[in-house]
Parts: sequence; C-alpha cells; structure tokens
Amino acid sequence: MPRILVPTPLRPFTGQQPVVAAEGSTVGALLRALTTTHPDLRPHLFSAEGTLRSFVNVYVNDEDIRHLKREDTPVGPADTVSIVPSVAGGSDTLSNEEVQRYSRHLIIPEVGVEGQRRLKNARVVCIGAGGLGSPASLYLAAAGVGTLGIVDFDVVDFSNLQRQILYSSADVGRRKVEAAAGRLTSLNPEVRVVTHETPLSSANALDILKDYDVVVDGADNFPTRYLVNDACVLLGKPNAYGSIFRFDGQASVFATKGGPCYRCLYPEPPPPGLVPSCAEGGVLGVLPGIIGTIQATEAIKLILGIGNTLAGRLLLLDALSMEFRTMKLRRDPACPVCGDHPTVTALIDYQQFCGIPAATAAAASTPAVPEIAVDALKSAIDRHDRLWILDVREPREFEICRIPGSTLIPLGELPKRIAEIPQGADAPDIVVHCKMGGRSAKAVALLRDRGIANARRSIRNGRSSA
Ligand SMILES: [Zn+2]
Repeated sequence: MPRILVPTPLRPFTGQQPVVAAEGSTVGALLRALTTTHPDLRPHLFSAEGTLRSFVNVYVNDEDIRHLKREDTPVGPADTVSIVPSVAGGSDTLSNEEVQRYSRHLIIPEVGVEGQRRLKNARVVCIGAGGLGSPASLYLAAAGVGTLGIVDFDVVDFSNLQRQILYSSADVGRRKVEAAAGRLTSLNPEVRVVTHETPLSSANALDILKDYDVVVDGADNFPTRYLVNDACVLLGKPNAYGSIFRFDGQASVFATKGGPCYRCLYPEPPPPGLVPSCAEGGVLGVLPGIIGTIQATEAIKLILGIGNTLAGRLLLLDALSMEFRTMKLRRDPACPVCGDHPTVTALIDYQQFCGIPAATAAAASTPAVPEIAVDALKSAIDRHDRLWILDVREPREFEICRIPGSTLIPLGELPKRIAEIPQGADAPDIVVHCKMGGRSAKAVALLRDRGIANARRSIRNGRSSA
C-alpha cells in the first residue's frame, strides 16, 4: 500500500500519525481515501468544490505532481506520497528545489518536512576545517544545516590533501576558510557559510560560539580542546567531539544538559610532548573521514532530537582491527567546570593549563624563539658556514628525507642526550629542524633552558605552525 507522509501541521487530523497508509492507484484516489478515513483533514486538502487546494503541494517520491499528471498521477504500492502545505514563516518553508534536494530525508519519518526545517534553521560551528572538519562540514552542508560556521586560520598545505577532503590540489596555498566556504557553497547554495579566520582563544571563544546551536570539535591540540569544552559548558551548547591518532579514533557528545564533559573524561591534559600530534605522529587519511562523519551524525541527531546520542558514552575505534567499543561515561560531580561546585566559571589560560611554556606557546602564533628561514639556512649551508643541524623528528621521518649532515635526536630523547650537543665557546651555531616548526620550537626552548644559547629553529617560508 502506498504511504502518505503527513506534515506536522496536519497531524492533529490524523491522530498525530506521521505516516498513513491508504488504498488508491492515483494521487487523487489516494487522498480521497485518506480524507474518508480522516474526514477532519478534508477541508485542509480539498476546496468545497472538491479540487485540491492550491496552497497544498503533493509529491510522489521526490516529484511534484504538478510536473506529472496532477491528481491523475499513478501511485504504486512502493511509492511515498508527501503532503507539503505552505506554512507561515517565510524561510521556514521548503522551496520546491529544497524538497527535491532533501527528498531522501523527507521520506524518513524521523526527519520529514519538520526535521528538514529544523536543519534549515539550525546553526552549527566546526572548530577547525582540517581532517575532522572536512567530512563533518561537507555532510552538514549536504544535509541542509542552514548556517555553518568554520573556525580556522590555516592555509591549505600539500600534506593536508591526504585526508582533508574539503580541498583539492588547486587549493594549496589558499586560506582554508575561503577554500572551504567555496566548496561548501557549491555543494549546497542553500547553506549560509560563516567564516571565522582566527585562532579560537579565551578572548573570542564565547563570542563566536554563542551564536550556534551545536559545536563540532575538530581541534588538533589540547589547549583548544579544553577551551572548546569549557566554552560549551559555560554556554550550555552540546559539543560533538572527535579525535584521531594514527589508527585510533574517539567520539562522544559533551556538555549536554546533565551529561558529562571532556574534563569529566580527562580532568588534566597530558604533559606537553607526551602525546604526539598528527603532524608529528601521523594519521591514516581515511580515519578522520569516519570520525568526522560520526560527529556530523551526532550533530544532526542533536538538531532533530532523535535517537540516542553519544552523550554519556565514549566511542572508541581501532581501525586496524576494525573494532568499535563503547565505554560508559558519567558526569563527575567534582568536575571543575560541569560539576556540582564548579571552580572554572570563566575561560582560563589554556596554554598554561596544558603546561606549554610561554615561549613555545607564543611561538605558535608569533616568533619568540630565534628563527632562521629555510632559504637562509640553505644559503648558509651552501656558503659552508659553521652550522650544526639538529633534526628532532622521529627516525622514520628522518629516513624519508633529511638535510645532509644533520644529526638526529628525536625531541623525546633530547633531555637525556644533551651531552651530544656541541657546547662551549668555539661551538658552531645550532639550527634545530623538524617538519612543522612545533617540535623545533620546543627543542630550542629546552636547549636555551639548559644554557645552550646559540640555538635557532628553522622555519618554512617565514610561517610557523605547530
Ligand atoms: Zn565535566
């Protein structure tokens, strides 16, 4: 029997049933059968003369019957007929184009026209337009989330393309927010993309996040994780969380009403340097595709108010064994931010909270550690200047490529191997090198702490990023 999807405004006349089955081989016969079973519905669909009212649009699957045979349009047992009345409220109504675009949503009872309108009115912000933010924002845009915020201040790099599917090769060198906005708008012009090209900070986080309904946390560092968490708790905004490393992924939903937060899971960050970032440790390119898509799914469920979200659960993925595990997660009554007696009632200094030395923290945005640009380093090598080049990457990275004559001491081993660094009055200048600039800045800070003052770090094209 064909199914008829009844929109929310008409459900009072079908005993609140969202889906009604009726007999009939044409749209006209079907709707007459429907209004025979539910006579109160008749005046809403038909005029006194018995013609279908002009402010009611009817679709068979995703086609408007006005483009088919109107009331004589045939319907088969597997077809879905949608009644789409015009609803006051201007932008609240779905256009014919939107009805076509979202037809696979509209025929799901849990979404339907009402759910699609909720998505259209929803505002979601993605923290980071990288590995996680790429699939999350693409799916949220495709799903019809009306306002999509993107917070990022980075530039597209060749090494991003292995997983950051928002960007194409031609985007390398472009500002991420600009490239992302272009891609998302071309995917779905109905979506308003709002770009925030700035590092999220204690100074701006509340102001940026307050305008959104759901936050998707795709950050790549601990200070931003804690900042996003605390801002979400303080603002009462749900946080669809995801994180990735090599083959392991995590996802959850934090800061829902009565639910746990990131600090309930991890009250304190690991000491700096203990947990490598993806830039340092690597990540399987497809992994953020899985986790970011889970974050988008949770955001959509939060907007629609359907199903069970990951609030109160931590989802763990091991992509090597392809096993998902779900752990229970409880709100900690002693949590400093979401607990019964919170001690964190305003945003704090998250660099300091994460134990990142001020010099290194500053190096992430402004150069506070002495630097030498890569082209200047190359000239110095060509001139045979007296240099000692220290590479603080991992042995595997060193194998892939290295500066000839450089010495490998991975950052983690550096404190124990200080004796290997040339020291003294006639020691050569030391240039510390890594891949992104983050580890070399830490290494230089460490060397200077130990009294080795003649160390500089190499930087790419004058730009440093951790
Ligand atoms: Zn908490």
